[in-house]
Amino acid sequence: MTAGQVKDILRKPDARSLARLLGQPDFAPVYEEADRVRREQVGDVVHLRAILEFSNVCRRRCRYCGLNAVNADVTRYRMTEEEIVDTARRAAQAGYRTLVMQSGEDPYYTPERLGRLIQEVKKTGMAVTVSCGEMEKSAYAYLRVCGADRYLLKHETADPALYRRLHPCGTLEERVRCLRILKGLGYETGGGFMVGLPGQTLETIGQDLLLLRDIPCDMAGIGPFIPHPQTPLKGSASGSTGLTKRAVALARLLLPRANLPATTSLGVLNAGEKNDVFSCGANVVMRKVTPDAYKRLYEIYPANLPPTDILSDRRELENQIRALGRVPH
Ligand code: SAM
Repeated sequence: MTAGQVKDILRKPDARSLARLLGQPDFAPVYEEADRVRREQVGDVVHLRAILEFSNVCRRRCRYCGLNAVNADVTRYRMTEEEIVDTARRAAQAGYRTLVMQSGEDPYYTPERLGRLIQEVKKTGMAVTVSCGEMEKSAYAYLRVCGADRYLLKHETADPALYRRLHPCGTLEERVRCLRILKGLGYETGGGFMVGLPGQTLETIGQDLLLLRDIPCDMAGIGPFIPHPQTPLKGSASGSTGLTKRAVALARLLLPRANLPATTSLGVLNAGEKNDVFSCGANVVMRKVTPDAYKRLYEIYPANLPPTDILSDRRELENQIRALGRVPH
C-alpha cells in the first residue's frame, strides 16, 4: 500500500478500511507518516508523567483485571493522605509536571476526600490527571473545581457485546457517557483501549480508533492486554505489541495533536529497537512513583517491578528518551 492509498483511507475512514490498513503486511509507510505528523504537530518533546497508584481497592469485576473485586488473593491497600501528598512532593522535586492519580473504583475516596487530595497535590505546582473510574457528573464537576486538569478513563473496547462480556458491572454506553461528560466539563479527556482482548478483531480496533476521534479524546492510552493468572481470562494469549504499535500510529494520524502515551504494558523504551513506539506516534510516557511496598500490590497484570528511587528513575528515563533523539519534559 502506498502513502497515497493510506491518505485516501484516512480521509474518510471506517472500521473496515482501518482494519484493512491494520492488517497490511508492510506497515512502514504508515509508521513514517505517523512519525512525520507527530513531529509536525507536537514536536520532539516527550512528556514524562508520574503515576501514583494510591489504592488498589476496587468494587468492579472487570474480567481481565487483577484488581477485580472477586480476586481474594490481592492484599488490598489504601495509601494515607500523608503518604500520597509526600509522594507527590517527591515526584515534583524530581522534575515531574503532572501527577496521574490512579486507583480502583474505591468508594472510600468520596469526591470530598479525593478533592482535598487534589487540592494538596496542586500545591506542588503539578497538573493533576485523575484516573479513578466512573462517577456521577456532579463528582467529576467537583473534582474539576478542586483543580483536576485531566481525566483518564479508557473505554477498553468499542464493541458493545465484547464490553458486556468483559464487564459484568457496566456498559460501553455508560463508559462513553462518562467520557462525554468529562469533555463537556473542560477536562483534557483521555480514552483508550486494550489490544488483543479475546474476541477482538481488527475491525473492533478500527471502531476503537473511530470512537477516540468521535469524543474527541485529547489523549489515548493504547496498550496490549496481558492475562492475569487470577482472572477468568488467565488462559488467554497476550495482545501483540506489533499490532499495538500499529494502532498507536493510526491514532496519531486520526488525532494529530493528541497526547499518546507509550503505555506501561507495552514495555517500550528499547533504544535499540527500530520501530519503538516513540517513532510510531507516541509522545508521552508514564512512570510509576508508587512506593515499592504498594507498587507490587497494584497488579493489574503480572509485572516484575524492581524497587526504584523516584529521582534516579526519572534521570534514567530522561537519558533513555534523549538516546532516542527526543526531548524529555
Ligand atoms: N479504575 C480506573 C478505571 O477503571 O479507569 C483506573 C484503574 S484501571 C486498573 C486502569 C487500566 O488498566 C484500565 O483502563 C485497563 O485498560 C488496564 N488494565 C487492566 N487490566 C489489564 C490487563 N490485564 N492487561 C492490560 N491492561 C489492563
